[in-house]
Amino acid sequence: MQAVVVTPERRLVVEELADPVLEPGTVMLRVERCGICGSDLHLRSEERIVAPGAVLGHEIVGTVLDVGAGVAGWAPGDRVASYHAVSCGTCERCTAGRPHMCAQALQLSLGLGTTQGGYAEQIVVPPVLLHAIPEHVSFDEAALTEPLAIGLHGVNQAEVAPGDTVCILGAGPIGTMLALALRVRGIDDVVLVDPNPFRREAAAALGFWAVDLDEVETAVTKVLGGTPRAVLEASGHITSPGLAVQLVGPTGRVVLQGRPPAPVEFDQRLVVSKELRIVGAVNCTAPEFAEALDHIAAGQVPVEVVSDVISLAGADAMFDELLSPGNTHAKVLLDPTVR
Ligand SMILES: [Zn+2]
Ligand SMILES: [Zn+2]
Repeated sequence: MQAVVVTPERRLVVEELADPVLEPGTVMLRVERCGICGSDLHLRSEERIVAPGAVLGHEIVGTVLDVGAGVAGWAPGDRVASYHAVSCGTCERCTAGRPHMCAQALQLSLGLGTTQGGYAEQIVVPPVLLHAIPEHVSFDEAALTEPLAIGLHGVNQAEVAPGDTVCILGAGPIGTMLALALRVRGIDDVVLVDPNPFRREAAAALGFWAVDLDEVETAVTKVLGGTPRAVLEASGHITSPGLAVQLVGPTGRVVLQGRPPAPVEFDQRLVVSKELRIVGAVNCTAPEFAEALDHIAAGQVPVEVVSDVISLAGADAMFDELLSPGNTHAKVLLDPTVR
């Protein structure tokens, strides 16, 4: 099969690999779409985590090609969205309700360095990861399940409810999915902040308020009618956590979901005087993944969020584009069936 492989020079090239082997208790998928995630962009250059030869991609939707011995409930032709984390179920994190942070999950997750990901024509996965895609949902729409689940995870960490005001820093793919996750949870007073005019326009086209970084405090307070109850950091910019602490209202919550390139600074005096809570958000849980697919099936997520569907061979150049500030792409999907 063809797959996108990370080279020693940290580029992505299409190579002919041996087809994955269908073991008992596993399911073979033809990959129909695999989303390019912000984390993939970083993993391409992370030599410590991703060895040369690895196949990235964890936002996987496909069609079942074959099922191994002992697998019940799935048959060739089934259309599926695959969650990516295989947790152990017994460690301290798993039993504390944080299975998405299980050390085994991080090691065995699809496409995060050690296990083959979805940037390939085929993949073999444990059936426990699979969710059926309803007939009326397209593969493009279904490929938004994992990104929306990441948004739902950020919203869950924010502990916001309908009626709360929320500011999102960064209107890229994660910021957009956070805004949509807030909307499907009935939280409508949402403003996105982004210096990229294309991203502000795209957010506005989805019906969200979007403001520039200039005079941001005034702009955010104006559209929300006050200081935000929560600020969700989704830009990964080094100054963004400092801005979040500045913008959020008294007793508010700051959720950090971006991955800045270096340690960040914020004004602790503001955290103290406003009694803020700062919390991280990583990955998503299996229930959040299932909830996301339900919202997509209910037509609550516009497929326009997908800006490009490209071939495997286009991955490397697209990674470069997505890493350049000011780019005009939103969610980009690989389609291994496109040559
Ligand atoms: Zn992702
Ligand atoms: Zn575990």
